[in-house]
Amino acid sequence: MKTMEILDNIPFDICLKDVVKSLKMSRKNQAIEKTILDLLEGAKRIANPKALYKVSYIEGREGDSVKIDGTIFMSKILKINLENAERVFPFIVTAGQELEGINKTKDDFMRVFCLDAIKEMILETAVRCLEEYLAKKFIPGKIARMNPGSLNDWPVSQQKALFSVFGNVEELIGVRLTESFVMVPIKSVSGIFFPTEVDFKSCMLCQRHSCSKRRAEYNPEMVKKYS
Ligand code: SF4
Repeated sequence: MKTMEILDNIPFDICLKDVVKSLKMSRKNQAIEKTILDLLEGAKRIANPKALYKVSYIEGREGDSVKIDGTIFMSKILKINLENAERVFPFIVTAGQELEGINKTKDDFMRVFCLDAIKEMILETAVRCLEEYLAKKFIPGKIARMNPGSLNDWPVSQQKALFSVFGNVEELIGVRLTESFVMVPIKSVSGIFFPTEVDFKSCMLCQRHSCSKRRAEYNPEMVKKYS
């Protein structure tokens, strides 16, 4: 069985209604709807969302670190989450650099805003697709994920270690890391999927109030468990 695989051309089915909903538009606006339809048409023509994942095994645990595929990851929370795991799935998912080819006049703020929302939705679809694919192919039971940079405990600088697990990620799926460990294209997500008995989401440990991407309520009981 292959230990590394790329899911290419991940399908997405996003319609005007979905985008309008995600933009939380309170009133119907024909001009904006026309912009969205135009962008959606362009996105459907050229987008190529991709997911890269690897089947990896825990090789050791020490202090607040865990060794996966020869790479040391420094995170107390990750180490606790992987306490009973043997097999994990490091991954990188991207909405794809192809979307950068869509014409967005920088001073047309609304067009830039709508395109950003569409890219975000394509990325979310691709992450969901990978999660479902892993669940079906490897039957790991319940899985959760952690992403470097989502919590102070696992800083964004750990992207470098995560990328090193895959080799040349830019060649594989067109995602590169800047010197400050930001992924380009920006609409990309990286992390590790792992089997879990409990429902874990980093947001449960995160106190950031105004986060539009929150996936779960802050949970003080969970914070106690990990401290
Ligand atoms: S609340 Fe927002 S910033 Fe905090 S972990 Fe969740 S998505 Fe990340």
